[in-house]
Amino acid sequence: MASVFFPKSSKPHIVVFPFMSKGHTIPLLHLSRLLLRRGAAITIFTTSKNRPFISQSLSDTDVTLIDLPFPDNIVGIPPETESTDKLQSMSLFVPFANGTKLMQHFFEEQLQKIHSQVTCIISDGFLYWTLQSASKFGIPRLSFYGMSNYAQALHREANELLSLHESPDEPFALKNFPWIKLTRNDFDDPFDKLDPRGPHMDFIIECVTATTNSYGLIVNSFYELEPLYADYWTKYCQPKAWNVGPLCLAQPAKMEPTSHKPKWIEWLDGKLVEGCPVIYIAFGSQVKMSPTQLHEIALGLEESKVSFLWVVRERETEFSDGFEERVEGRGIVVKEWVDQREILEHEIVQGFLSHCGWNSVLEAICAEVPILAWPMMAEQFVNTRMVVEEIKTGLRVNTVDGSVKGFVKGESLKITVMELMGGEKAKELKAKVKKVAEDARKAVGNGGSSCLALNQLIDEIHKQK
Ligand code: UDP
Ligand code: UDP
Repeated sequence: MASVFFPKSSKPHIVVFPFMSKGHTIPLLHLSRLLLRRGAAITIFTTSKNRPFISQSLSDTDVTLIDLPFPDNIVGIPPETESTDKLQSMSLFVPFANGTKLMQHFFEEQLQKIHSQVTCIISDGFLYWTLQSASKFGIPRLSFYGMSNYAQALHREANELLSLHESPDEPFALKNFPWIKLTRNDFDDPFDKLDPRGPHMDFIIECVTATTNSYGLIVNSFYELEPLYADYWTKYCQPKAWNVGPLCLAQPAKMEPTSHKPKWIEWLDGKLVEGCPVIYIAFGSQVKMSPTQLHEIALGLEESKVSFLWVVRERETEFSDGFEERVEGRGIVVKEWVDQREILEHEIVQGFLSHCGWNSVLEAICAEVPILAWPMMAEQFVNTRMVVEEIKTGLRVNTVDGSVKGFVKGESLKITVMELMGGEKAKELKAKVKKVAEDARKAVGNGGSSCLALNQLIDEIHKQK
């Protein structure tokens, strides 16, 4: 790892403020690691309920954590809910995200104490109000969305075209990317609406405006993965973007041998001995699936005869029809938080049925695991297109009505699962993902594009001081 060293007196001090959801927090913790390794001091702002996860993830570092009180008076949000992972419904997302603005006063109180040493603030794009705080103290702010260049470019390109199409499944082409045929259903609320105005759109405009007026944008991607779309950003969009990923590669490898292996890793070890390839199934930290859809997944997995490890977020999920007993030995269902990267990197895991959250996509690529893509919300629909049509390291599930957002039957899931785990197409995907993983490792390695971008960024902000 190339490092930028600083004399103690002029060490950059970077404030990191992640949004309160696992998918947004995890990549910023990886970024914090990279900055620490380059000699920066890091202060992370969080809340008391989110603190344990952060301090545990970075327990081997000397990062400073500051807790801010999470507002207990956001209309519609039960007190003690300090993460979108804990929301009863994603319809509460906008009140939650806007409600974080009530932390601004406390943030500035803390910033007042340290501002003279702070070089820059890296905060999540959703915490748009942190730009105001940064400006008050004359500190540059960098925004982080955790999205690909592809997703950012497509949202921008499609924005004005979306409401011209009555039918949500009617394909239309993009001006700058005419080979991409999108539909309104490739987007989520509020973009998929014919009339997208309302609180959700207002919130997005706040975020985009604040990002545009910030010093820069940090992107969890690497140039070689999507040069066209990274160049598009440089040509048409503000502010300047730095592609510094895949950030998951910053996580140190697990120490071997581990005496306390989680039971699912031991189970995977057993499958390796038996020589039975395993498909890993997980849909991230936000998705809530209907019981009927869960039932169809169970059916598809059971009939595919493939070995599987399925992480279910719905704690209350019980398969009352004896599913877990019938698949015993061949498949396991885990209802806890797992270390997803440890699973993906296990040698016997050779496929990933995923919702295509951007972190999951990058983690799968880096672990050389092809994806069976099943997008559910947010920008996962465009991520799926990227995986299947551009990077070509995955297949897509088939829905009953052919719509991107349709219901998936067990019978059709069984077929795509078998396709991913065996046959000609699987070999092709595997070969491609190996190549992309190599490119990713090169990008973050010494002299690689992401490594250089991060060095340049630190250098640049440091000179500003
Ligand atoms: N994750 C994990 N264990 C779990 C569930 C999720 O480690 O049990 C991690 C996963 O590896 C990824 C993040 O949580 O880094 C989820 O981010 P992603 O963008 O894939 O999806 P989101 O949760 O934002 O929908
Ligand atoms: N957690 C969080 N934000 C919250 C509540 C909890 O990040 O608003 C984290 C907490 O740090 C812990 C995990 O989620 O790592 C489980 O929290 P808790 O025991 O409260 O909930 P449950 O186990 O019922 O999901």
